[in-house]
Amino acid sequence: MTKTISLLGSTGSIGRQTLQVVQELGLQVAALTANENVDLMEQQVRQFQPRLAVLYRQDAADVLRRRLSDVDVEIAWGMEGLVKAASLDEADTVVTAVVGSVGLQPTLAAIAKGKRIALANKETLVCAGELVMDEADRCGAEIIPVDSEHSAIFQSLRGCRSKKEIRRLILTCSGGPFFGKTYEELESMGPGDALKHPNWSMGAKITIDSATLMNKGLEIIEAMRLYRLPLSQVDAVIHRQSIVHSLVEYVDGAMIAQLGTPDMKLPIRYAFTYPHRAPTPEPPLDLLQCGSLTFHKPDEDAFRCLKIARQCAAQGGTATTIMNSANEEAVMQFLRGEIGFNDIHRRVEAALDAVAVKYQPSLADILEADRLARQAVLHS
Ligand code: MG
Repeated sequence: MTKTISLLGSTGSIGRQTLQVVQELGLQVAALTANENVDLMEQQVRQFQPRLAVLYRQDAADVLRRRLSDVDVEIAWGMEGLVKAASLDEADTVVTAVVGSVGLQPTLAAIAKGKRIALANKETLVCAGELVMDEADRCGAEIIPVDSEHSAIFQSLRGCRSKKEIRRLILTCSGGPFFGKTYEELESMGPGDALKHPNWSMGAKITIDSATLMNKGLEIIEAMRLYRLPLSQVDAVIHRQSIVHSLVEYVDGAMIAQLGTPDMKLPIRYAFTYPHRAPTPEPPLDLLQCGSLTFHKPDEDAFRCLKIARQCAAQGGTATTIMNSANEEAVMQFLRGEIGFNDIHRRVEAALDAVAVKYQPSLADILEADRLARQAVLHS
């Protein structure tokens, strides 16, 4: 069980909910990191008293240092700061709640120290899943998923004696704000439409990924890496109510699922308390009030990102890295109003055409694929 954490990405949606769980469970905080939110970081440092606070942007870190001159805390910036936060000896658990492939190097640093990883940064496993999982095995680092679907599968796999007992993992997907729309209807959707998620309150990047269904594509790859299963054994179904958080189908036909209200604090809490469970003051799911539970097949003709993700998952190597990095850039372009909704998948496809895939990639190959894919999107 976790006692002290380093929290990478403390000012985002998962980061803020993680700090609520930290208070609830009475955990210590060794380090906090964020991108550039000086105001919230200052508050968090005063409240949680970490030994190290990191802002990725150097100018923001300089402002933070001045603001916290009365507090005994070390301030750092950049990738070096993130890696330092991930490696602190005091922390037994590192929560990776940063958005995007920027999480890769700090995650590897935490793994090298044999820490428990509470993994809320799916892009890391999409970019470099095999490398990360092999390193975790080699260093004896536990990776506990915080992503709600993967936590549900993790919980539903308790008691599973062998991978041979698993027929399929079934990820559930809310369908996002554009469920039921045709490809042509999606063409005119703007950031304001896409940011209205029906069930979960999340950051902007993942909310757009949920609207394109790229999020489910990333999560299929995340599940393949975490549980070392082929694409043929990982499936996704649309489940509009977000009550069934995902399922394991066993070879004897039994399906085991985890259900609950859509609240990220449950998977966060479980990543800290595993293999135990801690009581929570939150009201549980009321089965008599939650209504009908429905399941649909995802429409991959309208939501092309999901189809692309499956193709890249089947291809392997750096195909998933290129796809992920191109998607990160394209989503930023969409949020800035520079491109349309369906241009997101077009930019991802263009990057996959432009950048050559490498198989059994080294970390250097992965970082290079990440760079080239971003460049391809920015120059298309
Ligand atoms: Mg998820």
